[in-house]
Amino acid sequence: MKYDICIVGAGIVGMAHAYWAAKKGLKVIVVEKNHTCQGASVRNFGLFWEIGQEEKYKGLVADSKKIWTEFFEDTKTWNKNGGSLGLAYNDDEMELINEYSKLYTNKNHHILNHKDVLKKYPYVNSKNLKGALYSENEITLYSRESIPAIAEWLTKKYKVDFLFDTTVISEKLPTIYTNKSSIKAAKLIISTGADFELLFPEVYKNAKITKCKLQMLKTEASNTVITPALYTATSFIHYASFSKCKTLEVIRTRIKKEQPQYLYYGINLLVAQNNYNELLIGDSHEYDESVNPFNKEEIDHLIISGLKRILPTTDINIKERWHGVYAKSSNKKFIIEDPKKNVLIVNAMAGAGMTLSFGLAKKAISSFI
Ligand SMILES: Cc1cc2nc3c(=O)[nH]c(=O)nc-3n(C[C@H](O)[C@H](O)[C@H](O)COP(=O)(O)OP(=O)(O)OC[C@H]3O[C@@H](n4cnc5c(N)ncnc54)[C@H](O)[C@@H]3O)c2cc1C
Repeated sequence: MKYDICIVGAGIVGMAHAYWAAKKGLKVIVVEKNHTCQGASVRNFGLFWEIGQEEKYKGLVADSKKIWTEFFEDTKTWNKNGGSLGLAYNDDEMELINEYSKLYTNKNHHILNHKDVLKKYPYVNSKNLKGALYSENEITLYSRESIPAIAEWLTKKYKVDFLFDTTVISEKLPTIYTNKSSIKAAKLIISTGADFELLFPEVYKNAKITKCKLQMLKTEASNTVITPALYTATSFIHYASFSKCKTLEVIRTRIKKEQPQYLYYGINLLVAQNNYNELLIGDSHEYDESVNPFNKEEIDHLIISGLKRILPTTDINIKERWHGVYAKSSNKKFIIEDPKKNVLIVNAMAGAGMTLSFGLAKKAISSFI
């Protein structure tokens, strides 16, 4: 059989491109080297994280949200429209929240004062709490279940073929060579996430790509039901959406003095609760071309102690620890390159793949086919 498009990698980026190509009536095959996706797409918080995205990507966010909604409606895969709650424990953090909501008045968010936060979310630490930013736009899903479910959905609804346990090693279109056999396809899309050494490595070199290792933890099921995803001042520093707030520098300087290790390890303290009431907590950011296979206990300790500070009465029994790795370019927000005719590389979604991929793929596919 000859395919119109062969896609390498069954992470969110590859599957988002498979969706748009198949929707346009093309015959698509996705080739994945593992038994199922085991990359960043199943190791993350599972947050559709609109609050962290810059204003200029609002079109991509909106397009992505439509596809997630279609997927959730069709498959009934678990998801929670719980929004997010950014907690402020310092006057400068409260000031930043005020600044942010004045800058972005069109968003579905509002500021809660200390009393309102505790009334609605009594599990949050009241000590030194100033208030919070509530946004209703964020969605929590459980990526370990959603990602395989997307593959099934694409197979059934859009007749996409998946070839698992197969590694693409080279191409000479229309032939694509794998470690097992060859595939015929008119076009090739390469979305291999952090595995960017094998196919067209020169493209990544030019984009100054590197790998980022992120440590994550999951607790046993908690007795506390936490509806919005919770985040703190470290996320103000981490996400570019807050970068226009003038108070950010004040916060960064203070944290550098008070908790330098949080900045050193790029900790972005975030909590999301899944459908089993387990808390997914993280994360850290360590950049290197080669990923250290060993997790640092110091990082886990910083994450757990940060969590205990915001949820002092919640039971926190760690069930799992892991790390995820994503690709990040230091000079581009994403990599969308065509190294030769009929070949497209899409990569380096960094920390925004679950939020932006469907929207980005819509644009990429319409100019590629
Ligand atoms: C800890 C963590 C938390 C995150 N939290 C969020 C979040 O809450 N919200 C959000 O929007 N984003 C989040 N992200 C970012 C998001 O997960 C990534 O941007 C996204 O998953 C990248 O998707 P991908 O398809 O490029 O890569 P991957 O998911 O890594 O998929 C690439 C796939 O390609 C396969 N592959 C590689 N080489 C080959 C080959 N030669 N042949 C065949 N198959 C191959 C791999 O096996 C892999 O399955 C987080 C990331 C991490 C690590």
